[in-house]
Amino acid sequence: MPNLSLKKNEMPAQAPDVRNKNFDEVTLGYTEETAIDEAKRCLNCKTKPCVSGCPVMIDIPAFIERVAEGKFEEAFEIISKSSSLPAVCGRVCPQESQCEQRCVRGKKGEPVAIGRLERFVADYHNAHTEIKEQKIEKNGHKVAIIGSGPAGLTCAGDLARLGYDVTVYEALHVAGGVLVYGIPEFRLPKSIVSREIAGLAAMGVKIETNMVIGRILSIDELMTDMGFEAVFIASGAGLPKFMRIPGENLKGVYSANEFLTRINLMKSYKDNSATPIMHAHRVAVVGGGNVAMDAARCAKRLGAEVYIVYRRGESELPARAEEIEHAKEEGIIFKLLTNPVEILGYENKEDRRDPQNGFVRAMRCVEMELGEPDESGRCRPVEKAGSEFEIELDCVIMALGTSPNPLIKSTTEGLETERWGGIIADSDGLTSRTGIYAGGDAVTGAATVILAMGAGKKAAAAIDKYIKEKEGV
Ligand code: FAD
Ligand code: SF4
Ligand code: SF4
Repeated sequence: MPNLSLKKNEMPAQAPDVRNKNFDEVTLGYTEETAIDEAKRCLNCKTKPCVSGCPVMIDIPAFIERVAEGKFEEAFEIISKSSSLPAVCGRVCPQESQCEQRCVRGKKGEPVAIGRLERFVADYHNAHTEIKEQKIEKNGHKVAIIGSGPAGLTCAGDLARLGYDVTVYEALHVAGGVLVYGIPEFRLPKSIVSREIAGLAAMGVKIETNMVIGRILSIDELMTDMGFEAVFIASGAGLPKFMRIPGENLKGVYSANEFLTRINLMKSYKDNSATPIMHAHRVAVVGGGNVAMDAARCAKRLGAEVYIVYRRGESELPARAEEIEHAKEEGIIFKLLTNPVEILGYENKEDRRDPQNGFVRAMRCVEMELGEPDESGRCRPVEKAGSEFEIELDCVIMALGTSPNPLIKSTTEGLETERWGGIIADSDGLTSRTGIYAGGDAVTGAATVILAMGAGKKAAAAIDKYIKEKEGV
């Protein structure tokens, strides 16, 4: 019997006032019964509109049909043909603007919960199978990958399956890119990312951490001295932006990247962590995207009163609807149509040795109103005259976006980039240098996991074609 309910099956979750004090995963996942019930909402549309909304074109109706029949491993096989990180994408993909936006059930009621079903299938598979070493016949060709985020890992997996000898060079001491250093544990448990990486290692992919390409080795050295026939640059966009307002160099001002890395990668919230983090009382996170929500929700879990300070209105917030809702439920206070103009520091002239000297004490802001649309189509925020006010704070986190680090460009002769730093690459990922490919955030600027994965897949296919053609196969 099809399920004609207009609403998705609810996702069980930790209660807001419990979860805002711990780092455990917020949402708990569907049970087998709920997954089957939700899958029965799918109409198995012949035209598959949902598939065209998925950047890696997962055969959504086919996998959901298997879930409805209780054939979860078969569902996993179908998803795996298109996606190598379903447990990740099922959790963090912006489904509401991708696959689920095109679902016909969404015309009258809620769309089928495609992301939740994908997560269920991947979690079921992971709970019921062990990673085994795979014997893949090598083809004798070597490819280097720079960066171990979703773009690099996907490209590595696809090339390893084709028999390439793949080495991933990662600047940090742990592989996974933003999946480990940016997205918090309560949205994406790190055990899921480690399992994906263990799967790649079982296919023979070598991962060398603490290897900053451009410092320890250059791309040219990889290709000339070390025998790599192609390189895929997947170094992401990790360089934070600041507002350039007075006071940004005070103690207690973080970039969201630094704040999140201290928490997610270095586990600075644990008593035994060697990396400190400020346990602030009142925190303002400046920005309105996913990164801002993550930073705010982390600060809340450290015990602070937390404000999101965003210069446009509620409907312009770029973060995923679910993240905004979760942040509100957890007690984050939204100060919308508000723009910071100065961060004010504590200064005790009477006692220069006062340990509070040089720390943040407040932020001066102005109220904004929305004017005419700008080139992005969004209403331009305009300052309201005479509306200045101060918020008392001891910590400010800037979550204003990021751009690619210029290190790779500055150390690679002939590699062309955009003015804002993005590496120029064609639709297959080929850059201005033969044999050098690039993809993910390093090319597009900060985007999404699934787009980075899609770029990794395309580049793997293009690298395979390039090496085979070079060899005359
Ligand atoms: P990254 O994941 O950034 O990986 C790049 C890797 O390259 C890093 O590990 C870096 O250390 C390494 N590297 C950099 N330079 C060098 C070098 N010179 N040598 C060696 N290694 C190098 N997307 C979603 O779809 N959903 C979300 O909910 C979501 N939330 C996010 C939350 C946060 C806090 C952030 C920061 C991003 C979020 N994103 C989200 C965006 C998404 O994570 C990125 O678009 C995606 O990770 C990009 O993948 P990538 O492989 O291109 O780069
Ligand atoms: Fe939807 Fe993302 Fe899964 Fe594609 S990968 S089906 S867009 S949740
Ligand atoms: Fe199922 Fe919706 Fe896709 Fe139709 S559009 S096949 S109902 S998921």
